[in-house]
Amino acid sequence: MIIKPRIRGFLCTTAHPAGCARDVENQIRHVESGSVRGEGPKNVLIIGASGGYGLASRISAAFGYGASTVGVFFERPASGNRTASPGWYKTAAFTEAAKAKGHYAANINGDAYSEEIKQATCDVIERDLGQVDLVIYSLAAPARQMPDGEVVRSTLKPVGEPFEGRTIDFNTGVMRDVSLEPASDEEVADTIKVMGGEDWELWIHALKERGLLAPGCITTNYTYLGSEVTWSIYHHGTIGRAKEDLDRARKALVEPLAEVGGSAYVAVMKGLVTQAASAIPGMSIYLSLLFKAMKDAGTHEGCIEQTTRLFDTQLYGGGELRTDDEGRIRMDELELAPDIQTFVADKWAMVDESNLDSLADFSGYRQAFLGLHGFNIEGTDYEADVELEVDIDLAAGGD
Ligand code: NAD
Repeated sequence: MIIKPRIRGFLCTTAHPAGCARDVENQIRHVESGSVRGEGPKNVLIIGASGGYGLASRISAAFGYGASTVGVFFERPASGNRTASPGWYKTAAFTEAAKAKGHYAANINGDAYSEEIKQATCDVIERDLGQVDLVIYSLAAPARQMPDGEVVRSTLKPVGEPFEGRTIDFNTGVMRDVSLEPASDEEVADTIKVMGGEDWELWIHALKERGLLAPGCITTNYTYLGSEVTWSIYHHGTIGRAKEDLDRARKALVEPLAEVGGSAYVAVMKGLVTQAASAIPGMSIYLSLLFKAMKDAGTHEGCIEQTTRLFDTQLYGGGELRTDDEGRIRMDELELAPDIQTFVADKWAMVDESNLDSLADFSGYRQAFLGLHGFNIEGTDYEADVELEVDIDLAAGGD
Protein backbone atom coordinates (compact mmCIF):
# COMPACT_ATOMS: atom_id res chain seq x y z
CA MET A 1 0.00 0.00 0.00
CA ILE A 2 1.11 3.59 -0.62
CA ILE A 3 0.82 5.51 2.64
CA LYS A 4 0.30 9.26 2.94
CA PRO A 5 0.03 11.37 6.08
CA ARG A 6 -3.57 11.83 7.20
CA ILE A 7 -3.80 14.67 9.67
CA ARG A 8 -6.69 15.58 11.97
CA GLY A 9 -6.04 18.51 14.29
CA PHE A 10 -2.79 17.77 16.07
CA LEU A 11 -2.99 14.05 15.30
CA CYS A 12 -1.63 12.16 12.32
CA THR A 13 -3.59 8.92 11.96
CA THR A 14 -1.17 7.12 9.63
CA ALA A 15 2.49 6.13 9.95
CA HIS A 16 5.03 5.03 7.37
CA PRO A 17 6.95 1.83 8.23
CA ALA A 18 9.96 2.56 5.99
CA GLY A 19 10.16 6.21 7.11
CA CYS A 20 9.93 5.17 10.78
CA ALA A 21 12.71 2.61 10.22
CA ARG A 22 14.89 5.25 8.58
CA ASP A 23 14.27 7.65 11.44
CA VAL A 24 15.52 4.99 13.87
CA GLU A 25 18.52 4.30 11.61
CA ASN A 26 19.37 8.03 11.63
CA GLN A 27 19.21 8.10 15.42
CA ILE A 28 21.46 5.05 15.66
CA ARG A 29 23.92 6.69 13.28
CA HIS A 30 24.04 9.79 15.47
CA VAL A 31 24.85 7.72 18.57
CA GLU A 32 27.44 5.61 16.80
CA SER A 33 29.20 8.67 15.42
CA GLY A 34 29.95 9.86 18.99
CA SER A 35 33.37 9.66 20.57
CA VAL A 36 34.61 6.57 22.43
CA ARG A 37 32.67 6.12 25.64
CA GLY A 38 33.66 4.80 29.05
CA GLU A 39 31.63 2.56 31.36
CA GLY A 40 27.91 2.91 30.93
CA PRO A 41 24.63 1.16 31.61
CA LYS A 42 24.48 -2.60 31.05
CA ASN A 43 20.89 -3.60 31.65
CA VAL A 44 18.28 -0.91 31.09
CA LEU A 45 14.53 -0.77 31.57
CA ILE A 46 12.78 1.98 29.63
CA ILE A 47 9.15 2.72 30.50
CA GLY A 48 7.67 4.60 27.53
CA ALA A 49 10.29 3.19 25.14
CA SER A 50 8.71 3.67 21.73
CA GLY A 51 8.60 7.41 21.09
CA GLY A 52 10.34 10.72 21.73
CA TYR A 53 12.69 10.76 24.70
CA GLY A 54 12.11 7.12 25.70
CA LEU A 55 13.00 5.65 22.32
CA ALA A 56 16.01 7.98 22.06
CA SER A 57 17.15 6.86 25.54
CA ARG A 58 16.87 3.24 24.45
CA ILE A 59 18.94 3.93 21.34
CA SER A 60 21.57 5.87 23.33
CA ALA A 61 21.89 2.99 25.82
CA ALA A 62 21.98 0.16 23.28
CA PHE A 63 24.11 1.72 20.55
CA GLY A 64 26.22 4.03 22.73
CA TYR A 65 27.02 1.51 25.47
CA GLY A 66 26.01 -1.90 24.12
CA ALA A 67 23.31 -2.18 26.80
CA SER A 68 20.62 -4.84 26.93
CA THR A 69 17.24 -3.11 26.96
CA VAL A 70 13.74 -3.97 28.06
CA GLY A 71 11.19 -1.54 26.58
CA VAL A 72 7.63 -1.03 27.82
CA PHE A 73 5.20 0.87 25.61
CA PHE A 74 1.59 1.07 24.49
CA GLU A 75 1.43 0.77 20.71
CA ARG A 76 -0.93 -0.52 18.06
CA PRO A 77 -0.02 -3.00 15.30
CA ALA A 78 -1.47 -2.61 11.80
CA SER A 79 -4.88 -4.07 11.15
CA GLY A 80 -6.63 -4.28 7.80
CA ASN A 81 -5.94 -1.05 5.95
CA ARG A 82 -4.94 0.79 9.10
CA THR A 83 -1.25 1.40 9.61
CA ALA A 84 0.41 0.56 12.91
CA SER A 85 1.22 3.44 15.26
CA PRO A 86 4.65 5.04 14.66
CA GLY A 87 6.01 3.64 17.92
CA TRP A 88 5.19 0.14 16.74
CA TYR A 89 7.18 0.56 13.52
CA LYS A 90 10.04 2.31 15.33
CA THR A 91 10.27 -0.41 17.96
CA ALA A 92 10.33 -3.07 15.25
CA ALA A 93 13.20 -1.24 13.52
CA PHE A 94 15.07 -0.70 16.79
CA THR A 95 14.75 -4.36 17.76
CA GLU A 96 15.98 -5.61 14.42
CA ALA A 97 18.98 -3.28 14.47
CA ALA A 98 19.82 -4.05 18.12
CA LYS A 99 19.65 -7.82 17.57
CA ALA A 100 21.75 -7.53 14.41
CA LYS A 101 24.47 -6.00 16.59
CA GLY A 102 24.07 -8.68 19.24
CA HIS A 103 22.32 -6.43 21.78
CA TYR A 104 19.53 -8.06 23.80
CA ALA A 105 16.18 -6.27 23.35
CA ALA A 106 12.86 -7.36 24.89
CA ASN A 107 9.56 -5.62 24.20
CA ILE A 108 6.47 -5.39 26.35
CA ASN A 109 3.34 -3.86 24.86
CA GLY A 110 0.70 -2.94 27.43
CA ASP A 111 -0.47 -0.50 30.05
CA ALA A 112 2.56 0.48 32.12
CA TYR A 113 0.28 1.78 34.88
CA SER A 114 -1.09 -1.70 35.51
CA GLU A 115 0.25 -4.10 38.12
CA GLU A 116 0.01 -6.88 35.53
CA ILE A 117 2.49 -5.21 33.14
CA LYS A 118 4.79 -4.26 36.02
CA GLN A 119 4.98 -7.88 37.17
CA ALA A 120 5.29 -9.22 33.61
CA THR A 121 8.22 -6.83 33.07
CA CYS A 122 9.81 -7.96 36.33
CA ASP A 123 9.44 -11.59 35.17
CA VAL A 124 11.29 -10.83 31.93
CA ILE A 125 14.09 -8.98 33.75
CA GLU A 126 14.44 -11.76 36.34
CA ARG A 127 14.53 -14.46 33.67
CA ASP A 128 16.82 -12.79 31.13
CA LEU A 129 18.90 -10.10 32.83
CA GLY A 130 18.86 -10.77 36.56
CA GLN A 131 18.85 -7.07 37.46
CA VAL A 132 18.74 -3.62 35.86
CA ASP A 133 21.21 -0.82 36.56
CA LEU A 134 19.26 1.97 34.83
CA VAL A 135 15.52 2.65 34.80
CA ILE A 136 14.30 5.42 32.50
CA TYR A 137 10.73 6.56 33.08
CA SER A 138 9.55 8.40 29.96
CA LEU A 139 5.83 7.84 29.88
CA ALA A 140 3.56 10.50 28.38
CA ALA A 141 -0.05 9.39 28.52
CA PRO A 142 -3.42 11.09 28.30
CA ALA A 143 -5.09 8.82 30.86
CA ARG A 144 -4.41 6.28 33.60
CA GLN A 145 -6.55 3.39 34.74
CA MET A 146 -6.38 3.23 38.52
CA PRO A 147 -6.28 -0.16 40.32
CA ASP A 148 -10.04 0.10 41.09
CA GLY A 149 -10.79 0.42 37.36
CA GLU A 150 -11.50 4.17 37.41
CA VAL A 151 -9.93 5.99 34.44
CA VAL A 152 -8.46 9.42 35.26
CA ARG A 153 -7.48 11.86 32.51
CA SER A 154 -4.82 14.51 32.32
CA THR A 155 -5.80 17.95 31.05
CA LEU A 156 -3.78 20.75 29.52
CA LYS A 157 -5.22 23.79 31.24
CA PRO A 158 -4.02 26.85 33.12
CA VAL A 159 -4.30 26.94 36.91
CA GLY A 160 -5.86 29.93 38.69
CA GLU A 161 -6.26 32.22 35.67
CA PRO A 162 -7.72 31.71 32.19
CA PHE A 163 -5.31 31.19 29.27
CA GLU A 164 -5.52 33.37 26.19
CA GLY A 165 -3.14 32.34 23.46
CA ARG A 166 -2.73 31.44 19.82
CA THR A 167 -2.08 28.23 18.01
CA ILE A 168 -1.33 27.24 14.40
CA ASP A 169 -3.50 24.92 12.35
CA PHE A 170 -0.98 22.34 11.26
CA ASN A 171 -2.44 21.74 7.81
CA THR A 172 -3.24 25.27 6.72
CA GLY A 173 -0.79 27.39 8.68
CA VAL A 174 -3.78 29.48 9.83
CA MET A 175 -3.38 30.90 13.32
CA ARG A 176 -6.28 31.01 15.69
CA ASP A 177 -6.99 32.24 19.18
CA VAL A 178 -7.33 29.70 21.95
CA SER A 179 -8.87 30.46 25.32
CA LEU A 180 -9.05 28.01 28.16
CA GLU A 181 -10.76 28.30 31.52
CA PRO A 182 -8.67 27.43 34.56
CA ALA A 183 -8.66 23.79 35.62
CA SER A 184 -10.79 22.63 38.53
CA ASP A 185 -9.07 21.17 41.60
CA GLU A 186 -10.14 17.74 40.43
CA GLU A 187 -8.57 18.26 36.99
CA VAL A 188 -5.31 19.32 38.63
CA ALA A 189 -5.37 16.27 40.92
CA ASP A 190 -6.16 13.93 38.01
CA THR A 191 -3.35 15.34 35.85
CA ILE A 192 -0.96 14.72 38.75
CA LYS A 193 -2.20 11.11 38.99
CA VAL A 194 -1.51 10.57 35.28
CA MET A 195 1.69 12.55 34.69
CA GLY A 196 3.08 12.98 38.23
CA GLY A 197 5.60 10.79 40.00
CA GLU A 198 3.39 8.18 41.68
CA ASP A 199 3.64 5.53 38.97
CA TRP A 200 7.42 6.03 38.74
CA GLU A 201 7.60 5.27 42.47
CA LEU A 202 5.38 2.20 42.02
CA TRP A 203 7.71 0.86 39.33
CA ILE A 204 10.82 1.35 41.46
CA HIS A 205 9.15 -0.32 44.46
CA ALA A 206 7.95 -3.24 42.31
CA LEU A 207 11.47 -3.78 40.94
CA LYS A 208 13.05 -3.43 44.38
CA GLU A 209 10.63 -5.86 46.04
CA ARG A 210 11.59 -8.46 43.44
CA GLY A 211 15.32 -7.79 44.03
CA LEU A 212 15.79 -6.54 40.46
CA LEU A 213 17.64 -3.28 41.14
CA ALA A 214 21.38 -3.76 40.70
CA PRO A 215 23.78 -2.15 43.18
CA GLY A 216 24.21 1.52 42.23
CA CYS A 217 21.07 1.49 40.06
CA ILE A 218 20.13 4.87 38.60
CA THR A 219 16.64 5.99 37.68
CA THR A 220 15.63 9.12 35.77
CA ASN A 221 12.38 10.77 34.86
CA TYR A 222 12.05 13.58 32.32
CA THR A 223 10.58 17.00 32.87
CA TYR A 224 10.18 20.28 31.02
CA LEU A 225 10.34 23.84 32.32
CA GLY A 226 10.70 25.89 29.17
CA SER A 227 10.41 29.54 28.50
CA GLU A 228 8.35 32.17 30.32
CA VAL A 229 6.23 32.66 27.19
CA THR A 230 4.75 29.17 27.68
CA TRP A 231 4.57 29.19 31.48
CA SER A 232 0.89 30.20 31.67
CA ILE A 233 -0.11 26.98 29.89
CA TYR A 234 2.77 24.68 30.82
CA HIS A 235 4.90 25.36 33.87
CA HIS A 236 2.11 27.12 35.78
CA GLY A 237 -0.62 24.91 34.34
CA THR A 238 -1.94 21.44 35.17
CA ILE A 239 1.00 19.68 33.49
CA GLY A 240 3.46 21.86 35.41
CA ARG A 241 1.78 20.73 38.66
CA ALA A 242 2.25 17.13 37.60
CA LYS A 243 5.89 17.83 36.80
CA GLU A 244 6.36 19.42 40.25
CA ASP A 245 5.22 16.10 41.64
CA LEU A 246 8.22 14.43 39.98
CA ASP A 247 10.49 16.46 42.27
CA ARG A 248 8.50 15.15 45.26
CA ALA A 249 8.75 11.58 43.94
CA ARG A 250 12.50 11.90 43.35
CA LYS A 251 13.00 12.89 47.00
CA ALA A 252 10.74 10.04 48.13
CA LEU A 253 12.88 7.58 46.15
CA VAL A 254 16.17 8.63 47.79
CA GLU A 255 15.73 6.35 50.80
CA PRO A 256 14.54 3.16 49.09
CA LEU A 257 17.24 3.52 46.45
CA ALA A 258 19.95 4.22 49.04
CA GLU A 259 19.47 0.62 50.21
CA VAL A 260 20.93 -0.57 46.89
CA GLY A 261 23.38 2.36 46.67
CA GLY A 262 21.25 3.84 43.89
CA SER A 263 20.02 7.31 42.99
CA ALA A 264 17.01 8.98 41.38
CA TYR A 265 17.13 12.00 39.09
CA VAL A 266 14.76 14.27 37.26
CA ALA A 267 16.33 15.54 34.05
CA VAL A 268 15.04 18.77 32.52
CA MET A 269 14.99 18.21 28.77
CA LYS A 270 14.63 20.61 25.86
CA GLY A 271 11.27 21.36 24.22
CA LEU A 272 10.79 19.20 21.12
CA VAL A 273 8.07 18.05 18.78
CA THR A 274 6.84 14.71 20.07
CA GLN A 275 3.36 13.22 20.07
CA ALA A 276 2.77 14.43 23.62
CA ALA A 277 4.14 17.95 23.03
CA SER A 278 2.16 18.58 19.85
CA ALA A 279 -1.08 18.60 21.87
CA ILE A 280 -0.06 21.60 24.01
CA PRO A 281 -1.78 24.85 22.92
CA GLY A 282 0.70 27.51 21.78
CA MET A 283 3.62 25.07 21.75
CA SER A 284 3.71 25.04 17.94
CA ILE A 285 4.43 28.79 17.86
CA TYR A 286 7.00 28.56 20.63
CA LEU A 287 8.79 25.61 19.03
CA SER A 288 8.76 27.26 15.58
CA LEU A 289 10.50 30.31 17.07
CA LEU A 290 12.83 28.19 19.15
CA PHE A 291 13.86 26.07 16.15
CA LYS A 292 14.58 29.22 14.15
CA ALA A 293 16.76 30.70 16.89
CA MET A 294 18.59 27.48 17.75
CA LYS A 295 19.19 26.44 14.15
CA ASP A 296 20.58 29.90 13.37
CA ALA A 297 22.82 29.64 16.44
CA GLY A 298 23.89 26.09 15.50
CA THR A 299 22.63 24.71 18.83
CA HIS A 300 19.47 22.89 17.67
CA GLU A 301 19.07 19.38 19.10
CA GLY A 302 16.54 16.56 18.72
CA CYS A 303 15.64 13.83 21.23
CA ILE A 304 18.62 11.67 20.30
CA GLU A 305 21.15 14.49 20.69
CA GLN A 306 19.63 15.30 24.09
CA THR A 307 19.59 11.76 25.50
CA THR A 308 23.04 10.94 24.15
CA ARG A 309 24.44 14.10 25.74
CA LEU A 310 22.60 13.23 28.98
CA PHE A 311 24.25 9.80 29.06
CA ASP A 312 27.69 10.87 27.87
CA THR A 313 28.13 14.04 29.90
CA GLN A 314 25.89 13.56 32.93
CA LEU A 315 24.72 10.05 33.91
CA TYR A 316 27.93 8.35 32.72
CA GLY A 317 30.19 11.36 32.23
CA GLY A 318 32.18 10.67 35.36
CA GLY A 319 32.19 14.33 36.36
CA GLU A 320 30.02 16.45 38.61
CA LEU A 321 26.38 16.64 37.54
CA ARG A 322 25.03 19.95 36.24
CA THR A 323 22.09 20.29 38.63
CA ASP A 324 19.90 23.17 39.76
CA ASP A 325 18.64 24.13 43.24
CA GLU A 326 16.02 21.37 43.09
CA GLY A 327 18.70 18.79 42.25
CA ARG A 328 17.39 18.40 38.67
CA ILE A 329 19.89 17.65 35.90
CA ARG A 330 19.68 20.51 33.38
CA MET A 331 19.78 19.53 29.71
CA ASP A 332 17.85 22.62 28.62
CA GLU A 333 20.71 25.09 28.99
CA LEU A 334 20.98 25.69 25.23
CA GLU A 335 17.22 26.33 24.94
CA LEU A 336 17.32 28.77 27.83
CA ALA A 337 20.47 30.59 26.68
CA PRO A 338 19.78 34.34 27.00
CA ASP A 339 20.24 35.12 23.28
CA ILE A 340 17.79 32.34 22.31
CA GLN A 341 15.14 33.40 24.81
CA THR A 342 15.52 37.09 23.92
CA PHE A 343 14.87 36.19 20.29
CA VAL A 344 11.76 34.18 21.21
CA ALA A 345 10.39 36.86 23.56
CA ASP A 346 11.03 39.70 21.06
CA LYS A 347 9.35 37.87 18.19
CA TRP A 348 6.53 36.26 20.18
CA ALA A 349 3.93 38.99 19.58
CA MET A 350 5.11 39.62 15.99
CA VAL A 351 4.50 36.14 14.58
CA ASP A 352 1.57 35.94 12.21
CA GLU A 353 0.50 33.86 9.22
CA SER A 354 2.56 35.96 6.81
CA ASN A 355 5.90 35.43 8.51
CA LEU A 356 5.65 31.91 9.97
CA ASP A 357 8.49 30.79 7.75
CA SER A 358 10.68 33.86 7.85
CA LEU A 359 10.47 35.04 11.44
CA ALA A 360 9.92 31.50 12.72
CA ASP A 361 10.67 28.00 11.43
CA PHE A 362 7.16 26.60 11.04
CA SER A 363 8.29 24.39 8.16
CA GLY A 364 10.94 22.89 10.48
CA TYR A 365 8.23 22.29 13.07
CA ARG A 366 5.99 20.73 10.41
CA GLN A 367 8.85 18.57 9.17
CA ALA A 368 9.55 17.35 12.71
CA PHE A 369 5.86 16.55 13.25
CA LEU A 370 5.64 14.57 10.01
CA GLY A 371 8.96 12.90 10.85
CA LEU A 372 7.42 11.55 14.07
CA HIS A 373 5.15 9.47 11.89
CA GLY A 374 7.83 8.45 9.43
CA PHE A 375 6.94 11.03 6.75
CA ASN A 376 9.30 13.52 5.07
CA ILE A 377 12.32 11.46 6.11
CA GLU A 378 15.07 11.90 3.57
CA GLY A 379 15.92 8.81 1.55
CA THR A 380 12.48 7.18 1.95
CA ASP A 381 10.55 6.28 -1.18
CA TYR A 382 7.00 7.37 -0.41
CA GLU A 383 5.68 6.21 -3.79
CA ALA A 384 6.75 2.61 -3.13
CA ASP A 385 4.22 -0.02 -2.21
CA VAL A 386 4.91 -1.01 1.41
CA GLU A 387 3.69 -3.78 3.67
CA LEU A 388 1.64 -2.37 6.58
CA GLU A 389 2.10 -5.37 8.82
CA VAL A 390 5.41 -5.50 10.62
CA ASP A 391 6.01 -8.02 13.41
CA ILE A 392 7.49 -7.39 16.82
CA ASP A 393 8.48 -10.33 18.95
CA LEU A 394 6.78 -9.46 22.27
CA ALA A 395 8.25 -10.78 25.51
CA ALA A 396 5.02 -9.89 27.34
CA GLY A 397 1.84 -7.90 26.83
CA GLY A 398 -0.14 -8.29 23.65
CA ASP A 399 -1.29 -6.58 20.51
P1 NAD B 1 5.97 10.52 23.48
O1 NAD B 1 4.52 10.76 23.31
O2 NAD B 1 6.87 10.68 22.31
O3 NAD B 1 6.22 9.03 24.08
C1 NAD B 1 5.45 8.53 25.12
C2 NAD B 1 5.76 7.06 25.39
O4 NAD B 1 4.87 6.60 26.43
C3 NAD B 1 5.54 6.13 24.19
O5 NAD B 1 6.53 5.12 24.21
C4 NAD B 1 4.17 5.47 24.49
O6 NAD B 1 3.97 4.20 23.92
C5 NAD B 1 4.28 5.37 26.00
N1 NAD B 1 2.99 5.22 26.66
C6 NAD B 1 1.95 6.09 26.70
N2 NAD B 1 0.96 5.59 27.49
C7 NAD B 1 1.39 4.39 27.94
C8 NAD B 1 0.84 3.40 28.81
N3 NAD B 1 -0.35 3.55 29.39
N4 NAD B 1 1.58 2.27 29.04
C9 NAD B 1 2.79 2.09 28.46
N5 NAD B 1 3.37 3.00 27.67
C10 NAD B 1 2.68 4.15 27.41
O7 NAD B 1 6.41 11.44 24.70
P2 NAD B 1 7.69 12.37 24.99
O8 NAD B 1 7.38 13.75 24.55
O9 NAD B 1 8.94 11.71 24.59
O10 NAD B 1 7.60 12.43 26.57
C11 NAD B 1 8.32 11.57 27.42
C12 NAD B 1 8.66 12.32 28.70
O11 NAD B 1 9.54 13.41 28.37
C13 NAD B 1 7.43 12.95 29.37
O12 NAD B 1 7.60 12.88 30.76
C14 NAD B 1 7.51 14.39 28.91
O13 NAD B 1 6.85 15.27 29.78
C15 NAD B 1 9.02 14.60 28.93
N6 NAD B 1 9.51 15.76 28.18
C16 NAD B 1 9.06 16.01 26.91
C17 NAD B 1 9.50 17.16 26.26
C18 NAD B 1 9.03 17.50 24.87
O14 NAD B 1 9.21 18.63 24.45
N7 NAD B 1 8.46 16.56 24.15
C19 NAD B 1 10.43 18.02 26.88
C20 NAD B 1 10.91 17.70 28.15
C21 NAD B 1 10.43 16.56 28.79
